[in-house]
Amino acid sequence: MQPFEEMARLGHEQVVLCRNDDVKLRAIIAVHDTTLGPSLGGCRLYDYASEADALRDVLRLSRGMTYKAAVAGLDLGGGKAVIIGDPSIKSEALFRAFGRHVQALGGRYITAEDMNTNVEDMNYIRRETAFVTGTGMHYQGSGDPSPVTAWGVFHGIRACLEVVYGSSDVAGKKVAIQGVGNVGFHLARFLHESGARLVYSDINHRNIKKAMELYGGEVVEGDDFFKSDCDVLAPCAIGGIVNKNTIPMIRAPIIAGGANNVLEDEEADSQRLGQSSITYAPDYVINAGGLMSVHAELRGHPHEKAMSDAENVFNTVKRVLHKAQAEGVSTITASNRLAEERIEAVARLSRLRV
Ligand code: NAD
Repeated sequence: MQPFEEMARLGHEQVVLCRNDDVKLRAIIAVHDTTLGPSLGGCRLYDYASEADALRDVLRLSRGMTYKAAVAGLDLGGGKAVIIGDPSIKSEALFRAFGRHVQALGGRYITAEDMNTNVEDMNYIRRETAFVTGTGMHYQGSGDPSPVTAWGVFHGIRACLEVVYGSSDVAGKKVAIQGVGNVGFHLARFLHESGARLVYSDINHRNIKKAMELYGGEVVEGDDFFKSDCDVLAPCAIGGIVNKNTIPMIRAPIIAGGANNVLEDEEADSQRLGQSSITYAPDYVINAGGLMSVHAELRGHPHEKAMSDAENVFNTVKRVLHKAQAEGVSTITASNRLAEERIEAVARLSRLRV
């Protein structure tokens, strides 16, 4: 990969390599676009097979954050960080060293939790910089964002039901949730409280048991999740599960869940979904509640503000689905266009002298 060419192709502003040999820190921070505000995105700790893989991941993920914040209507740009290393070897010093690099960017990048990093790690980073979110209560942090994410997903599901069935009423509708972890569990609660019927699929049987005891429902294993005779498939576990092999099995008219990167191949799979008349709520639109949670934290807004922002995912998902219909494009293309239109409109404002 030619880094500068790749940055130009994806539209990145800045990529920073960070190292500290004493604590074996090797990290990359990517600032994609700061038109709408400081770049924000999680810090992922992962044992990448190569530095090129790490760079590819951070470039892709940071660009995704720009689109996510833009469609969510937040005054944030897109950024992301990856620490290259074994997730089982974490230390205070590692995260504090990373925090010093974040501080050196002077607020152009704000970090948060991501894969293999948690509140405790953010607390270490907070000792070196204020440009971190998702810290614990001790730092007036917003803590676990998953209830807000699930609240947004719940309202995104309602929007899909309205567009597909003509009513956003969840009562009596059957929703199959893959992954009853942090997001999936809260989603199950919101759906249950609104009278939905639930189906669960999870490799962790303890998580299923807990949800079954509290909210009832059925359990399916493996590929039976895709074949489930339900109204909505809600992927809330891992990415890449909707692909050329699974799409032919899907009977639900709607896919709307909290997981990131649900489509294995964005372009080809959105075409396949269109051909099968399956409505797909783009992942980064419907799961923006977590970002809204940290945005509220940054602005010093109460938790209720994050929840009301997440409720607005209903309107955003509807806008995306209507735009896709009106312009004859996939829902992913429609949401990408919405993001680009907002960024361009705000960029044009800078011509206005004040
Ligand atoms: P989590 O680890 O708490 O839960 C994931 C659940 O999925 C677990 O119960 C796990 O056992 C299950 N699972 C893993 N692989 C599976 C498989 N192959 N089949 C069935 N179940 C499987 O994670 P989470 O925080 O709930 O996040 C879930 C997804 O939502 C991820 O893709 C994450 O990136 C995305 N997301 C989360 C948030 C958030 O606020 N937590 C925000 C935005 C997006």
